[in-house]
Amino acid sequence: MSSGSFAEKIQRRRTFAIISHPDAGKTTITEKLLLFGSAIQQAGSVKGKRGPHAKSDWMTMEQERGISVTSSVMQFPYKERIVNLLDTPGHEDFSEDTYRTLTAVDSVLMVLDGAKGVEDRTIKLMDVCRLRDTPILSFVNKLDREARDPVDLLDEIESVLNITAAPVNWPLGMGVDFKGVYNLYTDTIHVYEKGQGHTIPADTQIQGLDSAEASELLGDDAEDIREQIEFVRGATSPFDVEEYLAGRMTPVFFGTALGNFGVREMLDHFVDWAPKPMPRMTHDREVQPNEEKLSGFVFKIQANMDPKHRDRIAFMRICSGTYRQGMKMRHVRLGKDVKIADAVTFMAGDRSAVDEAIAGDIIGLHNHGTIQIGDTFTEGEPLKFTGIPHFAPELFRRIRLKDPLKTKQLQKGLQQLAEEGSTQVFFPLNNNDIVVGAVGVLQFEVVAYRLKDEYKVEAIYEPVNVATARWAECEDPKKLEEFKRKCADNLALDGGGYLTYLAPTRVNLSLTEERYPEVNLRATREH
Ligand code: GDP
Repeated sequence: MSSGSFAEKIQRRRTFAIISHPDAGKTTITEKLLLFGSAIQQAGSVKGKRGPHAKSDWMTMEQERGISVTSSVMQFPYKERIVNLLDTPGHEDFSEDTYRTLTAVDSVLMVLDGAKGVEDRTIKLMDVCRLRDTPILSFVNKLDREARDPVDLLDEIESVLNITAAPVNWPLGMGVDFKGVYNLYTDTIHVYEKGQGHTIPADTQIQGLDSAEASELLGDDAEDIREQIEFVRGATSPFDVEEYLAGRMTPVFFGTALGNFGVREMLDHFVDWAPKPMPRMTHDREVQPNEEKLSGFVFKIQANMDPKHRDRIAFMRICSGTYRQGMKMRHVRLGKDVKIADAVTFMAGDRSAVDEAIAGDIIGLHNHGTIQIGDTFTEGEPLKFTGIPHFAPELFRRIRLKDPLKTKQLQKGLQQLAEEGSTQVFFPLNNNDIVVGAVGVLQFEVVAYRLKDEYKVEAIYEPVNVATARWAECEDPKKLEEFKRKCADNLALDGGGYLTYLAPTRVNLSLTEERYPEVNLRATREH
C-alpha cells in the first residue's frame, strides 16, 4: 500500500465501469487498460484465458455463446492512481446485474463503435447513469475501420443521449487512411502505427497541426483535415471539468482499442478528471469516504468463479474507512458482528488476499449464504445504503423437477441463485408451484444449467399464467389482511420472503391497483 495520508489515498482512487453495446469493444479496451496498468503483460489474455480461473463449465457456456455473463472487478495502478474497473455483463438479459454494478462506481467510460454510433443498449445504460448524474467519458472505437463522420457521431451523442459532447482529440482520417489523433487542447498529433495492439506502443508525437511534419503525415488530406478541425473547434463546446463531473458533459476521445491507439491518451485524462470516491446516501445520512470507520454495501453476488473454490463471493463497495484483514464488521441487516479474515480482491482477474482496502475499493467477501445483495456492513453504526434496485421480472416460468425427490436441492439452489440476483423465485401462497422470474429469457437457460451443474438437479420449465409481478406493501394491517384474503390466488412470497402480487395480465394489474388503492404495488424493490 502506498504511503500518504488516508485522505490522499482516497483521492487517488478511481472506480468506474465500462458501458457499451455488445461488440463495441469493451473487452478489448479492458485488456488494453490492464496492459497500461501492467496488470497483464500481453493484451489478449483476458478473453482467451480469463486468468487462473480459466475454464469452468460455466465459462465454457459463456464462450460457446460468445457472451460474457459474469462480471468481475479489476484493480490496477496507473501513474499516481489506483484504478478499480468493474466489469459489467454485456448481454441485455443480464442488465439487472449491470444496473447494480453502476450503483457501485463513481464514473463510467462509454465505448461506442465508430461505425455504429449510439446503439440501443448504450441508451438504456445511459438512462441508468443519469439517475445518479454519473460522470461519463466517451471513447469512439474502431477508427482503424471505416467509421461514420465524427461530426455526425458527436451530434448523435448530443441528441440521442442528451448530453453535451466535448471532443478532446480528433481522428485524423479513418480506416486505411487513419493517421492518428489530434489533441485539440495541446495542438499535438499522436501518430498511429499499425500492428502495435499487443504492446504498449511508442507515443510518436508531432507538435502543431500546421507544422511541416503534420503536412507530411497528412499528405493530400492535410487541408481538408485542418478545415474540419477548425470547424469542430467553432461548433463544439470546450471541455469543462465541472460540467463533466455534474454529468452534463462528456469528453470524447477517438481511437482503436484493437490497435491500442488513443487508449493511453484517454486513460491519461481519465485518471486526471474522473471523480475520486464520492459520498453515498444511507437512510439516515450521507456517508463521506474519508470517515474513519468502515462502511460499504454489497452490489453483487457471484458464484463459481474458481472451480476449485465452490464458494460464492459477495462484492462490496467500500464507501468509507478502511478494511483490514481480520477486522470485525457489523452485518447490519442481521445485526451480527462477523470477523472477516479473508476478503479477496481481484487484481486483473486473479484472486488474491487483501490486507487493506479503502473507500472506493471493492472487496470480495466469502458468502456462505448469509449475505444478500443490498446488505450494508459497518463498524457498528446501523446504516443502510440506499439506491440498489431490484427490478420486477418480465418473464415467468413454472419450474418442475424431473426427479421429484430433489425438491430440497431445487429450493436451495433457487434460493441461492435468487440471492445472487441470477433469477427471482416466487412461492405462491395457495399452491406448491415454484415460479421463476427473469428480466431476460437467457436467464432461464443459465438457471437450468447452473441447477444441473452446481446443485445436481434437472429442472424443466413450463409456461405459467403470469404477466408481471409487483411487490405489495400496505401501511394499514387491516387492509393488507383483506387484500391477502381476497387476492390469495395471485399472491406469492419472493426469495426474500416479500409479499408479491403475480398478475396474469396487465389489465388485471390495473384493476387490482384500482380496487386496492391503499396497497402499494411496486415495480421495483430496494434491497
Ligand atoms: P465487447 O462485446 O464490447 O466486449 O467487444 P469486444 O472487445 O469483444 O470486441 C468485439 C469485436 O470487435 C472483436 O472481434 C474485436 O476484435 C473487435 N474490435 C474491438 N476493438 C476494435 C478496433 O478498435 N478495431 C477493430 N477493427 N476491431 C475491434
